[in-house]
Amino acid sequence: MTGPIPVFGEFSDQELDHWLTMLRKAMPEEQILPLNELSLSEQQQAQIAIVANPNPQMLAQCPNLIWVHCLWAGVEKLIPTFADSPIKLVRLVDPALANTMAEAVLTWCLYLHRNMHLYRQQQMVSHWQSHAYVPSDQRTVTILGLGELGQAAAHVLVQHGFTVRGWSLNKKQLDHIECFAGNTELGPALKNSDIVVCLLPLTADTKNTLNARNLSLLKPSTCIINFARGGIVDDNALLTALEQQKIAHAVLDVFDQEPLPSNHPYWQHPNVTVLPHISAQTRADTASLIVAQNIQRFRDTGSIPASVDFNRGY
Ligand code: NAP
Repeated sequence: MTGPIPVFGEFSDQELDHWLTMLRKAMPEEQILPLNELSLSEQQQAQIAIVANPNPQMLAQCPNLIWVHCLWAGVEKLIPTFADSPIKLVRLVDPALANTMAEAVLTWCLYLHRNMHLYRQQQMVSHWQSHAYVPSDQRTVTILGLGELGQAAAHVLVQHGFTVRGWSLNKKQLDHIECFAGNTELGPALKNSDIVVCLLPLTADTKNTLNARNLSLLKPSTCIINFARGGIVDDNALLTALEQQKIAHAVLDVFDQEPLPSNHPYWQHPNVTVLPHISAQTRADTASLIVAQNIQRFRDTGSIPASVDFNRGY
């Protein structure tokens, strides 16, 4: 006999209602309830929870949890909450999310590749000037992070004719992608890149990966895209590199503080495109099916899906 599965975390009432509807539709055989609707004994009995950035007090209400399914792909905010507990943390790995991210990476790489950032600036000052067409195979796009999202993006870029490189912690072998790994190969990965796309998780090791030293390895025409987390880019170093024309443009979807404060220099910067964290939004319909499959497998076999390694931070 299994008890209800609690859902809790940082949800508005509307978001919680939507998630409950989609999760219940995906697993009608389970009882899915907001945490405060479980009795004390049901909270004690719960082995699994479904969460979005829960606080430690919420977790403590269910002392016998074995694992928790997070509804987001990025879990850096949860690491301090879970690191000292025996509870396993499973993050969202959803092919639909990877497709959405790959589409966003392609969209913005094409935007930069076809000089839209320059034409946008020219329009602001009624300036008519064409820039020479460069074929996509003469554009090198380097993807930092070759995980679920990075690999999906890399493959789509290869299909569109770009020259693609990737950098990860452990060396990969991927068709048509030049792969680099580890700190010693970051320099060679960045050198001569036309576009650098950041899809790393935010960890102690990846914080400020795009700092002054690494930005200085780029060409003045290089553009960067950060679709991962704000902390991976050193904001002061990026602003300095843009001011000094050491790099050309930055498309930023993620920031240390979100929403980005209205007085932040990025908003008005002519060489920065600000996006409101929309490159790949979790889809409740597809994510609920993934969560349902993982829970069903656990019910059937007792196997817990691959979980976050708290030592490496992702
Ligand atoms: P993932 O599957 O865990 O992949 C992470 C990649 O980063 C792996 O290739 C990993 O290397 C590499 N990596 C980690 N630490 C590294 C280091 N110190 N040096 C070099 N490479 C390192 O993660 P994912 O699902 O692709 O997601 C990536 C991030 O995207 C998430 O953490 C989240 O922050 C962000 N995200 C953003 C949005 C948005 O809308 N903006 C949406 C979803 C996710 P190995 O392969 O060797 O392990």
